[in-house]
Amino acid sequence: MEFTFNMPTSIRFGKDVLLSDPSPLKLGERALIVTGKNSGRKSGALYDVKSALNALKVPYDVFEGIENNPKVEQCKALGDEARRAGADFIIGVGGGSPIDAAKAIAVFAKNDIPCERIFRYGYDNGILPIAAVPTTAGTGSEVTPWSVLTVDAVQTKRSFGGPDTFPRVAFLDPRYTYHMPLALTRNTAMDAFTHAFESLISKKASPMTDAVNLYVLRAFGACFRPLETGDVEPLREKLMLLSMLAGTTIANTGTTLMHALGYPLTYFLDIPHGKANAIVMRTYLYELNAFRKDRLMIALDALGMTYDALMDYLARNYPVPFSRNDVDLERWAEGIMHASSARNTQTPLDKEHILTVYERLWDEA
Ligand code: NAP
Ligand code: ZN
Repeated sequence: MEFTFNMPTSIRFGKDVLLSDPSPLKLGERALIVTGKNSGRKSGALYDVKSALNALKVPYDVFEGIENNPKVEQCKALGDEARRAGADFIIGVGGGSPIDAAKAIAVFAKNDIPCERIFRYGYDNGILPIAAVPTTAGTGSEVTPWSVLTVDAVQTKRSFGGPDTFPRVAFLDPRYTYHMPLALTRNTAMDAFTHAFESLISKKASPMTDAVNLYVLRAFGACFRPLETGDVEPLREKLMLLSMLAGTTIANTGTTLMHALGYPLTYFLDIPHGKANAIVMRTYLYELNAFRKDRLMIALDALGMTYDALMDYLARNYPVPFSRNDVDLERWAEGIMHASSARNTQTPLDKEHILTVYERLWDEA
């Protein structure tokens, strides 16, 4: 047996965790805080981060306007801005979008490189240290090295990451997620769930990632019903924990075909990331049943669900919201063939096969 498991992020979890001990937030002498248009304020996280920096006597600038599914160009412009302002660390506050953007800004701030160069990990001047304060419970980005950015030049999302792009510290306070709308709660929960599910399937899975993923899947088995009925407030702390745990595993295994299949739904149809995964999950399960049945059975057993029960749950809650005629499946399939995550699944990846995988979305509709 051979494996490596890295988790260099210091994980600080709990209510009021940031203000009760702000000192680990001091990663330099001047911070740039980046957050979404409203999430930093709405969640209370931005207020806490500013208060913590004030207590630490660290000056800072704030950018409130990271787009959802951030574009690489916006990150480059903010990296240039961080350099001009003399920021020596970056704090990402918000959902996966601002935290992923923080990682890219930390690279661009130290390296005056063209946008497309960031996707080749390895940067001459290193990168600025990053702190992450999540306000959603889904991506686990606060503990992954990955940054997923929208790239219009290739009409999809691309990611980069390596040992240097892990946040140094993550502050996870479930209070920041208390006011998340139900749809956002459901979508982000499905993202966390699919991370654990895919990480268990991944050909890079190890005993370390299996141990964590089995824990996460067992706990998720009990979350599906309240997520469906909308009784989500009692789940807040648990979802934030599961999301972070699943982040620690995809940090090491990456995602698989399901994420690759979902990206075009987000890029071309603006479907939120976690929901896109849930919509393509049924055709992905069919694929696993044909080619990775051993691992599929382990995942279902941990969830405490049969194949049919999971299929029914997904069909009920995540029907395909677009028609076959609305989309260019040929183009989508070509993108999958080049996605490194798809290769982690050990299923066929030729274009004809991927087309049949996508066509199956409408099979029983
Ligand atoms: P998001 O794109 O960061 O945010 C979605 C929406 O939720 C935004 O409108 C945001 O508002 C709002 N929001 C965030 N926190 C809120 C709160 N506490 N209360 C109310 N509204 C809130 O969503 P996400 O699902 O967390 O992140 C998705 C992104 O992460 C995608 O780009 C995806 O590809 C990426 N991702 C990355 C990884 C990784 O390992 N790095 C893993 C999975 C996914 P604002 O606009 O005001 O911010
Ligand atoms: Zn994801």
